[in-house]
Amino acid sequence: MTEIPAPTGECFCGCGSAARPGNYFRQGHDKKAEGDLNAPFHGDRVVQRLVDRGYGPGGQNLHQAAINSGLREACGVVEGCPASGRPGSAELRRHRATHACPTSS
Ligand SMILES: [Zn+2]
Ligand SMILES: [Zn+2]
Repeated sequence: MTEIPAPTGECFCGCGSAARPGNYFRQGHDKKAEGDLNAPFHGDRVVQRLVDRGYGPGGQNLHQAAINSGLREACGVVEGCPASGRPGSAELRRHRATHACPTSS
């Protein structure tokens, strides 16, 4: 992977507006950049991007691949729970807290 340069104070999406100090994007513009990246390379669709990378039905399971690579951590609280998140992230902790588990306390 290409090394990412330090934030410059300008939004990396190319809109020309300022980003907060230490941020690469103006709020929400990371999503805009993602969409703009999908447009020329993957027919403007996430599903195309996924299939282009060999994921989806008949290919690799993206969810499982992300977990296997260690970039995502499965919920693991409830057997078969499809949730996952960044390892140690607040989202994942919040999700796990939604499983009121009577057997573990
Ligand atoms: Zn922008
Ligand atoms: Zn869960």
